Amino acid sequence: MKRIFALLICLLFATSAFSQDNKGFFGRLKNAFVVHDTVYIYVNQNNNDSIVDEDDEDEDDEESDERSEGIPVPIDTLNTHDMFQKVVLFDNGTWLYYNIDRSFIPYTMDSDHWITEQVHSYNDIALNDLPESVVLHLVDSIHGYCIPHPGPITSQYKYRWKRAHKGIDIGLYTGDAIYAAFDGIVRAALPVNMTGGYGNVLVIRHLNGLETYYGHLSRFIVKSGDLVKAGELIGYGGSTGRSTGPHLHFETRYMGQAFDPERIFDFESGTLRSEEFVLNKHYFSINSHYGQTDEQSLAASKKKPSEPKSAKAKQQGKKTYHTVRKGENLSKIAKRYGTTVSNICKLNGIKANKALRVGQKLRVK
Ligand SMILES: [Zn+2]
Repeated sequence: MKRIFALLICLLFATSAFSQDNKGFFGRLKNAFVVHDTVYIYVNQNNNDSIVDEDDEDEDDEESDERSEGIPVPIDTLNTHDMFQKVVLFDNGTWLYYNIDRSFIPYTMDSDHWITEQVHSYNDIALNDLPESVVLHLVDSIHGYCIPHPGPITSQYKYRWKRAHKGIDIGLYTGDAIYAAFDGIVRAALPVNMTGGYGNVLVIRHLNGLETYYGHLSRFIVKSGDLVKAGELIGYGGSTGRSTGPHLHFETRYMGQAFDPERIFDFESGTLRSEEFVLNKHYFSINSHYGQTDEQSLAASKKKPSEPKSAKAKQQGKKTYHTVRKGENLSKIAKRYGTTVSNICKLNGIKANKALRVGQKLRVK
């Protein structure tokens, strides 16, 4: 209690110092920069020179003048529970809260590949451009995490119906709350007609460069550019877009490349697997998933995924047959229907070297 009182007194001091010379104070705070989420504030002596008499010849005198006027000099910053708020300490023992504005967001977090009008924003970056491994710091004492929705995983990160399912599906009821997984800024909040299957989707970029996607929402309550904290309500679950029933489609991506979200979260227990996550390049393969050893993941990533069906066949979802004509072979037929010899063989239970008869009916889709 005593301590709180002392802090209040300090705050009063700070506030009064603040009001004495607002201009000088703000001038100083503008000389701040952020490295790894810590605000560093420095006093630029040259700037001070410019606002005093030109014939002033002694800098030390000027400094002591300022001190005698009671303008405190910032000497350190402390983190608070709020990523966008710091405590600034001054040399006279006072402190105050300092809200970090948009210009203090670390590095290029909201400028590099910052596209708000489309779901993916790293389309010009190829997998080959990415490093072999990157360490992502997920949480620390002031930056938490939250499972986006506590529910059963109904579909994993894998090949499914011959297409890559680059996230996990979490079962829910329409209208269930969806929460931000980590602190960050909403990059994209897009309606169903702009997202090609994702439905109403939110994309949040986090401080470490990671992006999380929340698809099929019934609606969202944040917009592009909003700062969000882990656990903050961002929208409600639904079944918009390419969806067969209410669920959350949740993706984790780095530089546009997706990897299994189960590598980060244990959705069953609702916990984070580790504070620090080593993201290896082979994790970006759709065949690589949580539960594999790194050797297994690497080997799986080299496997060629099975060919996706043609868009037309997917749309119609019906069987297609071909009657063999003179001079045709399996590879020619496969090419014609945009499929592969092995797919045709599988569909018909035949071997690739089987001789074809003219007039023979083959299923090709
Ligand atoms: Zn999904």
